[in-house]
Amino acid sequence: MASTLADSLPLVGAERRARAGRGVGEAAAVRLKVTEIFRSLQGEANTVGFPTTFVRLTGCPLRCHYCDTAYAFHGGSWQMLPEVLAQVEALGTRHVCVTGGEPLAQKGSRALLRALCDLGKEVSLETSGALGYHDVDPRVVRVVDLKTPGSGEESRNLYEQIETLRAVDQVKFVITDRADYEWSREQVAARQLAARCTVLFSPVAVQLAPRELADWILADNLPVRFQLQLHKILWGDVPGR
Ligand code: SF4
Repeated sequence: MASTLADSLPLVGAERRARAGRGVGEAAAVRLKVTEIFRSLQGEANTVGFPTTFVRLTGCPLRCHYCDTAYAFHGGSWQMLPEVLAQVEALGTRHVCVTGGEPLAQKGSRALLRALCDLGKEVSLETSGALGYHDVDPRVVRVVDLKTPGSGEESRNLYEQIETLRAVDQVKFVITDRADYEWSREQVAARQLAARCTVLFSPVAVQLAPRELADWILADNLPVRFQLQLHKILWGDVPGR
């Protein structure tokens, strides 16, 4: 398996092949519980619209009221990391997003993220913000939720971690109502988030009219990026899209 995967890499330099070889060697012992691996357009965040391979890991210790991926809480299939990498390679996108569930709840997720970077992918991690990401490979772009009161999981926020976000990272607020909006606005100001990284505000589908949130942002001239989930507009709320 190791030689097959390394040989499949484009000849873009000895370093990448050597790194991939190391990644594959490490990967042989790592297993992950996977809900789905698929190619779609990135629906959110700074790479919205790019063809992206999604690796959705199974399981999440949170239970946000508005969760749209509850199907990833249970089930899934155990796969060895080389199998996962081979599927990602076969889908052929430059961008790869590791998501869940909460991917960091699985020990092997760090090795997965590192191996994807070693393969030369542009890798992003979608995480709840409730688990530590200090040990995630620095090449990975972190898209971190700050859970609003409307999520029911506000107490899980690790606020001190937010201070470690870099300019390439993003912090995301998923907003259910006006109270959530005001809370989010306070967080952005108090923690000077917009000076640190991109700040994303998303309305919860069916709970808050997107136009209402857009009007609030404009009225307050907030330095945040409003976003809608592109994949849901295109294909609806279905797994694998
Ligand atoms: S952290 Fe994400 S996957 Fe987990 S319950 Fe909340 S929205 Fe769902």
